[in-house]
Amino acid sequence: MELIVGAIVAGLVVMLFAGKYFSKKLPKETHFECARCGTLARHTDRTIDAWRNNKTTFFCQSCHIKWVRARALRERERNTSLAGSGSGSGCLGVVVLFAVVPLAGFLLVHAYA
Ligand SMILES: [Zn+2]
Repeated sequence: MELIVGAIVAGLVVMLFAGKYFSKKLPKETHFECARCGTLARHTDRTIDAWRNNKTTFFCQSCHIKWVRARALRERERNTSLAGSGSGSGCLGVVVLFAVVPLAGFLLVHAYA
């Protein structure tokens, strides 16, 4: 058991170090052409992150903000059309679990007391 935990911890540490090492990688270019409006924009932490995730298209800050707003709107529309499902219900499920488990234990103790 200790061996497994040790292996997992070692694996996590290695991944953390590997992640730190790879996170030092930077794009060769300091600027990029916005894929939406064509403006030459300077790389930011966000676009560098995207670059590290092998993205080849980047958006300038103003286009990114527009995209984020459009996405938020789409997400909201999707969430209202799928009411009761998705991440919301997953969270609720956890809350229900935490509420039900002690209650079930309490009832069991009283039923056999
Ligand atoms: Zn742009």
